[in-house]
Amino acid sequence: MNTDSSTRFIFKGADIRGNLVRLTDSYQSAIGNHDYPDDVKLLLGEFLVAAQLLASTIKFEGTLTLQAKANGAIRALMAETTHDGETRGIAQLAEDGTRYDFSALKDGLLAVTIAPTGKQNYQSMVPLTGSNLSECLKHYFDQSEQLGTLFHLAVAGEEAAGMLIQQLPRQLETDEKLREEHWNTTQILSNTLTKEELLQKDNATILKHLFAEEDIQLLGSTPVTFTCSCSQARMAGALASLGSAELEALFSEEENVELTCEFCSTAYTFDAASLTRWLSGDQATH
Ligand SMILES: [Zn+2]
Repeated sequence: MNTDSSTRFIFKGADIRGNLVRLTDSYQSAIGNHDYPDDVKLLLGEFLVAAQLLASTIKFEGTLTLQAKANGAIRALMAETTHDGETRGIAQLAEDGTRYDFSALKDGLLAVTIAPTGKQNYQSMVPLTGSNLSECLKHYFDQSEQLGTLFHLAVAGEEAAGMLIQQLPRQLETDEKLREEHWNTTQILSNTLTKEELLQKDNATILKHLFAEEDIQLLGSTPVTFTCSCSQARMAGALASLGSAELEALFSEEENVELTCEFCSTAYTFDAASLTRWLSGDQATH
């Protein structure tokens, strides 16, 4: 059974929606092949959850990437997901780092890139401000649209979870003052959610507990899986980008060259002949 899911919900009779994400297997797979410090594992868990929550706010077919870049102990943190919940993520660290919590990303940039299949990518960026990723994402939405958006993220042990609450454009609530009051109350209530509750309680219980007065409907759930998009053909392409002189030198020293995918640790081996075959497209369909 797949325990990892992204589940939408709506407030009936109000212009408010939300999403709850819980990841166990996909989170464990993303960190499993790496020797990350504990703080980096926690942060990567938050990024993986946040990527799902962000994907739930837009309609797209393709890939959404949430990426932080900084010059501190953490160089880069990245989580990506397809529209149907295929996710992967990675951290790149400085070798001489001492602290690897959110402060290691200070003064960096947070970018959200959407790559719709067959269309042009679009990207938006905000400075990595605030004391955690939730605050930074709230800032991202405050800057880009008028609709209030809140993030709650929690990671502990083998689990990562998150909740998003978002205002919708005015539709059901026509009185602007009442609409804003309702949103303010919802924010206050949602901020009473503890990390323990988010991680331990099921979706229905969380919503009932937080918003006892509301009529909330849980909608569809998307399964989330750790899936890497690497392949022998892509690795051949990466090798080819070294240039022919470099490749010739490489194969004059070694009969086989092995490349390891940094996301999933799958190893791909090439000799000069097989690389040529891959690059000529003879094996591109495999
Ligand atoms: Zn891979």
